[in-house]
Amino acid sequence: MADININEADVELKGFVDVDINPALDLFHEIEVLKKEKNAVVLAHYYQEPDIQDVADYIGDSLGLAQQAAKTSADMIVFAGVHFMAETAKILNPSKKVVLPDLKAGCSLADSAPAAAFKAFKEQHPGHVVISYINCTADIKAMSDIICTSSNAQKIIESVPADQPIIFAPDKNLGAYLIKKTGRDMVLWNGACMVHEIFSQQKILKLKAQHPDAKLIAHPECEEAILQYADYIGSTTQLLKFAVTDAANKFIVATETGILHQMQKDAPGKTFIPAPPDNMCACNDCPHMKLNTLEKLYLCMEYEQPEILMDEQIRLAALKPIQRMLEISKAAGLGG
Ligand code: SF4
Repeated sequence: MADININEADVELKGFVDVDINPALDLFHEIEVLKKEKNAVVLAHYYQEPDIQDVADYIGDSLGLAQQAAKTSADMIVFAGVHFMAETAKILNPSKKVVLPDLKAGCSLADSAPAAAFKAFKEQHPGHVVISYINCTADIKAMSDIICTSSNAQKIIESVPADQPIIFAPDKNLGAYLIKKTGRDMVLWNGACMVHEIFSQQKILKLKAQHPDAKLIAHPECEEAILQYADYIGSTTQLLKFAVTDAANKFIVATETGILHQMQKDAPGKTFIPAPPDNMCACNDCPHMKLNTLEKLYLCMEYEQPEILMDEQIRLAALKPIQRMLEISKAAGLGG
């Protein structure tokens, strides 16, 4: 480790290790050296910037990342994603060090379900099984019966007996989509993702008219106003697979723009157009995901900070519904 004293309180305040990096350093090379030196694995979400995706040992969506975190033999997990994802890795690996490039990489969807309000909501609906989307805090996971991701949500809901009432949290758009898909009448928590709620139906329809040969593919966190026009709806991994294997050569992609990097890499001859958001900005990047940079990734590996730490009681309570999800996913042959 470099011979510089890092003040933990300062890291917590800023969210990341704020140390100047020698501009002559080749960070791609240095990160590879640190991986070996520290027996570290870099897990990155598809929404991370391209440089981070290119140094990752594994790139995936929430389900794939949780599965990788569950089976890694590394001593240190470097989680290039947002806070709840790194928390999930820690819940699964209490004895391993889990670091996140920027502690402030949060999630508007996870933030939309504060623990105290959710506890009260649960009390208003006694006898309900709680299925929570993985995009929630450890506190919400600890109050849930089963966790799900957009890849396995349908299978998870279908694993619950038909006469059992269900609360689905925290994403109301994904919940509404799943009600349609499964025919189950679930009670929905009123949360949403700021990135997937921003797409403009009007601009997408205009784009479709300009590119009649393009297929619209969308993440189920999008609103019904967008999903009703989609040629295909799926999790980030499912969208990637569809874009690569489908006969079409052009796609309008309604999810975070980070996935376009892998789509372009895996299908270099095809055209991918990011679906336009309903604002003046030309992009639909997740501002939380994009807080992580290659520099912060290098620094968190070098100084092993900021580290994810958690209350053991919460961890144990949050572990159960995640394990339940992993078991159901495995039995259904979903990834892993
Ligand atoms: S894209 Fe949405 S759900 Fe994903 S991390 Fe960003 S705010 Fe959260």
